[in-house]
Amino acid sequence: MKLFTVGPVEMYPETLKVAAEQLPYFRTPEFSGIMLENEEMFKASIHAPKDAKTVFLTASGTAAMEAAVMNCFTAEDKLLVINGGGFGKRFAEICALHRIPYEELCLEFGEVLTGEQLAGFADHGCTGLLVNLHETSTGQLYDIRLLTAFCREHGLYLIVDAISAYGADEIDFERDGIDALIVSSQKALALSPGLAIVAVSDRLYRDRVMKIQSGSLYFDFKIHIENLKRGQTPFTPAVGILLELHERLLQIQEMGIERLRKQTHAVAGYFRDQASKAGFLIPKYPLSNALTPVLLESCAKEMYTRLKDDYGLVVTPNGGALENTIIRVGHLGNVVLEDYEELLKAMKAVQESL
Ligand SMILES: *Cc1c(COP(=O)(O)O)cnc(C)c1O
Repeated sequence: MKLFTVGPVEMYPETLKVAAEQLPYFRTPEFSGIMLENEEMFKASIHAPKDAKTVFLTASGTAAMEAAVMNCFTAEDKLLVINGGGFGKRFAEICALHRIPYEELCLEFGEVLTGEQLAGFADHGCTGLLVNLHETSTGQLYDIRLLTAFCREHGLYLIVDAISAYGADEIDFERDGIDALIVSSQKALALSPGLAIVAVSDRLYRDRVMKIQSGSLYFDFKIHIENLKRGQTPFTPAVGILLELHERLLQIQEMGIERLRKQTHAVAGYFRDQASKAGFLIPKYPLSNALTPVLLESCAKEMYTRLKDDYGLVVTPNGGALENTIIRVGHLGNVVLEDYEELLKAMKAVQESL
């Protein structure tokens, strides 16, 4: 079985080794030391300044999206949600559920986000912008420069779900003026699912997090941030995944996040070239390096199932309206060029047999 998914993905042997070990007790100076290093190395990997705060949640990425909204905004706010697919829609649902006023900038499948569209919301009194930098349901990578410029010009906090962009696409917390950035363990970090990380700018922390009653015991950022000062979490964390993270961040620190991004870019580029040569259709909108959507007119489900069952190659199926239109081929985790040669051979064989 080989995973060309977006999470969980093929894990690295070093991670699997850590994952196989007995867990330590965590209320110790040793574990605190590991957590403080995790925080420092994570912040370095996103180019966050020293005064940015970090929250480690034992939860999937969606919980971190919800927690970010709950801790940073109230009914007095108005949020602009970039809704270009399943994950943008999820941000809108979170706002609705928590009764935070919001507007949506909706994109059709294949429609590229532009500065003109954003400008249409300039005088709507929005206080924050929620975006999934890479909208994983379609593969579209939004132009962070447009979002940063819009937020700076109109005084909005910029909340970036970078769950599938981290490690795959260029992100710079400080340069891009990001106020909260969300990552989770099962994507490019290639760790077990169950750990989400949120980095919060000092200004968002002071202006909002410190003053807002989140209405949640577990997800209250204040208590997480306070505890992390001594390298601890308020409740039992995902000890094992945090140890996996430590090992992985040491690797990333050594190689540089830029090299990881370039590797992912190279693998994605190779697959896109070869797939196009083989006659497969790839959409023209700006794509994340994390995955390649392949347009398959009304045989996407069959392609996914046959690749999995006949070849042991698992690509990412789509849900919803695109279920039978596209498959998504992931480029995250421990995958190399030869894996894509094998995948393309199998894709061609399946297509010829349809
Ligand atoms: C994977 C992903 C999430 C998180 O999904 P979970 O299943 O909750 O981990 C959130 N946003 C984006 C853009 C994602 O790709």
